[in-house]
Amino acid sequence: MSDQVEQYRSLLEDVPCNLCGADDYDVVYPPQYDDAQPDEIMVTFRSSGDEILVDQLVRCRGCGLQYLTPRLKSDLILTGYSQGTDENFISQNPGRERTFAKSLHLIERLVPKKGRILDIGTAGGAFLGVAKRRGWEVAGSEPNRWMAEWGSDHYGIEIQPGTIFDMDLPDAHFNVVTLWDVLEHTPDPKVVLKECRRVLKPDGLLIVNYPDINSLIARLMGRKWVFLISVHLYFFTIETIREMLQQTGFRVQRSKMHWQSLELGYILFRMAPYISWLSKLGTKIVTALRIQHMQIPYWMGQTLVLARPFTEE
Ligand SMILES: [Zn+2]
Repeated sequence: MSDQVEQYRSLLEDVPCNLCGADDYDVVYPPQYDDAQPDEIMVTFRSSGDEILVDQLVRCRGCGLQYLTPRLKSDLILTGYSQGTDENFISQNPGRERTFAKSLHLIERLVPKKGRILDIGTAGGAFLGVAKRRGWEVAGSEPNRWMAEWGSDHYGIEIQPGTIFDMDLPDAHFNVVTLWDVLEHTPDPKVVLKECRRVLKPDGLLIVNYPDINSLIARLMGRKWVFLISVHLYFFTIETIREMLQQTGFRVQRSKMHWQSLELGYILFRMAPYISWLSKLGTKIVTALRIQHMQIPYWMGQTLVLARPFTEE
């Protein structure tokens, strides 16, 4: 075993299934520790982090949840997220604002009276910025300190550096709670959802967007699926997300494909680790044509779940 591999393995811990607690699994993809970069953990955990998965992906024999184990220790994950800057991610905020405006349109059909929205892991605050402009009262948290500050300044809102647990929120306070591409990054998603349930009003709405590993595109791409990256600790399917929501006090009202949009140039940049020649060639062409800022809608298995709280009778 090389020094690098040994160093990386010393940063890992085994975790049981977050959904059912079992510790009995089948391996979906074995680890690729030779590709690990133990000195670059901080770079890996940027919001635009796209280091290809090196950890072992397993499927729980009890409930079918897919997750990484062993994986980086939770405190290292949070430290990784809190540090560093990410101009590259922020550069795509105009596209995100467009996507979020559509999402808010959907939310406002289901929650007609504009009240309070909480966005957990809000990154640069694009969603909250749009919501505020549309008349919502907004609150959010973001573990990355640089990003939290950038979003607060840019949108004139208050973003709490840290996680939802750093916020000290009252019970039944929010009309809407959102987790945009966040739940699969959290070391303990069940605890996060329980906290969402606590702070959401009984007639409130929870929104979870996640990449579905059982979507057609994920199955077709297999090991090359774009969301199979190091920072995703959990890989939900509609069945496992529904079960986790059920166990934390939510009932799924609806689920749908969630189209997001990014600039063409950024998509090509993110493609580089997968198909490097096509990324290089494409970048040359779009730069020559000056269409690198064109907004491209894309769908790679992103799934939007709308859920409502329920009370056990
Ligand atoms: Zn399980």
